[in-house]
Amino acid sequence: MDSKASNPSQHFQNTEDQSEQPLLALDAVCRAFHSGSNEVRAMNNVSLSVQRGELIAIMGQSGSGKSTLMNILGCLDTPTSGTYKVAGHDVSKLSTDELSSLRLKTFGFVFQRYQLLNNQTAAENVAMPSVYSHMPKAQRQTRSQELLHQLGLEGREHHKPSELSGGQQQRVSIARALINGADVILADEPTGALDSVSGQQVLALLKQLNRDNGTTVVLITHDPEVARHADRIVHMKDGEIISDSGHSNKNDNNQSETTLSQHSFKLETFDRIGIFTSLYLAVTSLRANLFRTLLTLLGIIIGVAAVVSMMAIGDGGKQQVLDRISAMGTNLLQVSPGGRNIRSSGDIATLSMADAEAIAAVHGVDLIAPERESRSTFRQGAYDYSGRIRGVTPPYFPMRDWHLSQGVFIDEADIQSFASVMVMGSTVAEALFPDGDNPIGKQVLMNSTPYQIIGVLKPKGASAGGRDMDDEVYVPMSTAQLKFFGSEYLSIITVKVTDTSLLGQVEAQITQLLKERHGVEDFRVRNTASLVEAVTETQDTLTVLLGAVAAISLLVGGIGVMNIMLVNVSERRREIGLRIATGAKPSDILRQFAIEALLVCIIGGAMGVALGLIVLLGLKALNVAVAFSLTPPVLAFSTSLLVGWIFGYAPARKAASLNPITALSEE
Ligand code: ADP
Ligand code: MG
Repeated sequence: MDSKASNPSQHFQNTEDQSEQPLLALDAVCRAFHSGSNEVRAMNNVSLSVQRGELIAIMGQSGSGKSTLMNILGCLDTPTSGTYKVAGHDVSKLSTDELSSLRLKTFGFVFQRYQLLNNQTAAENVAMPSVYSHMPKAQRQTRSQELLHQLGLEGREHHKPSELSGGQQQRVSIARALINGADVILADEPTGALDSVSGQQVLALLKQLNRDNGTTVVLITHDPEVARHADRIVHMKDGEIISDSGHSNKNDNNQSETTLSQHSFKLETFDRIGIFTSLYLAVTSLRANLFRTLLTLLGIIIGVAAVVSMMAIGDGGKQQVLDRISAMGTNLLQVSPGGRNIRSSGDIATLSMADAEAIAAVHGVDLIAPERESRSTFRQGAYDYSGRIRGVTPPYFPMRDWHLSQGVFIDEADIQSFASVMVMGSTVAEALFPDGDNPIGKQVLMNSTPYQIIGVLKPKGASAGGRDMDDEVYVPMSTAQLKFFGSEYLSIITVKVTDTSLLGQVEAQITQLLKERHGVEDFRVRNTASLVEAVTETQDTLTVLLGAVAAISLLVGGIGVMNIMLVNVSERRREIGLRIATGAKPSDILRQFAIEALLVCIIGGAMGVALGLIVLLGLKALNVAVAFSLTPPVLAFSTSLLVGWIFGYAPARKAASLNPITALSEE
């Protein structure tokens, strides 16, 4: 009736008649433990056979080897020597999957301390092992309800273990042992933690199961009163059986053939539980430990959000600088003094206005903007300001696409007449006219010479290097050379070419021209493309740096996940031990834990991407340059998946390889 998930080809074909086999048969079994150099023989040469339908009490003092015997009977432990057969099958020859299926279907464990999952209800605890036998959800629910009713726990289905008495918890654990239709109940001191009344109830229950369902019961106790209820009593001492009251033969007396045939032994294996069931288990346990889950999520979210936002800020900065350069135009050349072999100490006096005029005559040159710059102090009334002064010619402003907030630019007439006029940047204007007076027409003293303000520029903001571009004043080149610099050398000449296609040709011609004029190559000609390259390089370094910081935070998040998963495993050792003892395969546990880690990283990754985008939207609203692109979120999200997979897998492996006996004995 219950072989839905079994594969007929995997049934063991028994040549011998099963009814003549003992259900459980130990033959000269020893189990030795090594602690350091000394060896403890917990079981020594134990031979015992148990018939179907028996109720056996195993007695003996503490340390006599009863639990060790029980663990071997339940296939949680293996003998050091000797053989153990279940219905004729030598257990040492069975595969891991077959052993799991024995624990799942044939044996039902009842522990002294109930071993219920504290954050699940009675019904969920009962149904737990049926997940691994692929019982459909509806059937799991009805069957656990039925069992709980049958064991007198009607109305308690949705109580957590902490809301139940000890006796009730033990009955829940008996129901759990029965959910997969166990042939044998192995109860290790089931009444040890109970008061005598509930102890009696639990015993009566086990007796009733034995009598009515033909369930074989092996019961460990040190209470003779309890043992009196059994058909057969086995005494152990120092790992050996010292007395055995023998088979009761009650099978022949009071059990019908039909009851027995219901329990005819079948060895089958089950597939690993499905991905959706694993997902369900993972979600259930993540929800049950909500606070821990949220903390882990936080680590991932911060890491991913950092990657997403920092990369966008780095890219945004780069984009902004490149935009400014391209706003200047791609048809520009810059001629600067000083070549490879010229030492650049102080002003390099190699480029002159005469050079500039010669360049202007080159075929393909549209405009030239020679300039000369220095620092100076500007004084107006009681205020002064130290900034940059630049000698320029009229084409300077349109070539940079700069605009006036008021007044006019320097024109050709100002150059011709050596006019003492200046156009000022907004920072200078604010510094010299803090009261908001109109600067136009006012006088500014520079090097004891008065200049009249004829224009104020619109603010331009910070340069690529972060320098304020508005703390400058502009004076006609002729005036600047005569009254300020006292020489006619230039800092730089910007050349605008009529057409971008002529750029290379003009560049070569200018180089040729200046070489002829100077006799040596004491100058440099650069085009915007090489400028873009230089800027891109520095900005990329910045982006990589930001990215590295973000990647480190993502790594820290990942280590957080691993840490939490490891803690998780240690904290949940008991649960894992229990799941394995009730029939979960190591691969089921592996999958559940791996999915848990992966799920956290998927959710954390998605939330991190969302948070990163929100931060970027905020920054954008604050006028910070950001560049949205798909790569950083995709990169961060897939990294978090990878992190989840790598860091989730190791602890999952650890969980799956746990020894259920030691895990269960921990508290
Ligand atoms: P009982 O259940 O009868 O009290 P056990 O079967 O738990 O006894 O233990 C029998 C003996 O084996 C004890 O001396 C115990 O210390 C030893 N023993 C049990 N399990 C281990 C183990 N994992 N490692 C070392 N010694 C063990
Ligand atoms: Mg014990």
